[in-house]
Amino acid sequence: MEDSFLHKGLRKKLVDEIRRKGIKTEEVLEAIGKIPRHSFMDSSFITFAYKDQAFPIAAGQTISQPYTVAFQTELLQVNKRDKILEIGTGSGYQTAVLLELGAAVFSVERFRELYLKAKSTLSELGYRPQLFYGDGYQGLPTYGPFDRILITAAAPAIPEQLLDQLKTGGRLVAPVGGTASQKMILVEKTAENNYITSEHGYFIFVPMVKGKE
Ligand code: SAH
Repeated sequence: MEDSFLHKGLRKKLVDEIRRKGIKTEEVLEAIGKIPRHSFMDSSFITFAYKDQAFPIAAGQTISQPYTVAFQTELLQVNKRDKILEIGTGSGYQTAVLLELGAAVFSVERFRELYLKAKSTLSELGYRPQLFYGDGYQGLPTYGPFDRILITAAAPAIPEQLLDQLKTGGRLVAPVGGTASQKMILVEKTAENNYITSEHGYFIFVPMVKGKE
């Protein structure tokens, strides 16, 4: 898909907007400024690609609002070469942001249709993530432990199995709560079996669902 001057101009405005909303990490803003979000959306929504809003993708799911993507990424504090587990690949847009920050990304999606679509979108753009079709509740025990874990769907509680796959010194970010709205939670693993949990405002995500389809 073409990335025109119009797209680039709109993207610059989007970056200004999320900066105004409070995102400070330059690397995160740069990533948002670089990634053609319109390539991750259905053609019927492309004219909205650079609005700071969530939009429908296939399988009744959504591509997250850019501000939310930036907020979660900032909270995660990504370092180059971090090994990151992402639960909920969806469109693959958040995956691209993590890759732009120099991380090795392992991302799981429970809808086969979305997994396949994200795989082709990301590869067309030249990104090299490790994508998996499966149930994120299980994580990826054979690929872990991870420096960072990011859940991009609303979890009723933080899955124990995922905490087990977090390295000591690692950070896990997840929206936790019911369907109406969720608290953004950061878990820092300070030692084996020692966690510090903090809360970072309210957001709305599609639910994290067990199994795969
Ligand atoms: N990061 C995505 C957000 C997609 S919405 C983006 O930027 O586009 C959340 C995604 O999580 C949906 O695609 C949904 O199917 C997926 N999901 C929900 N429960 C899951 C689970 N148990 N395992 C893997 N993916 C899951």
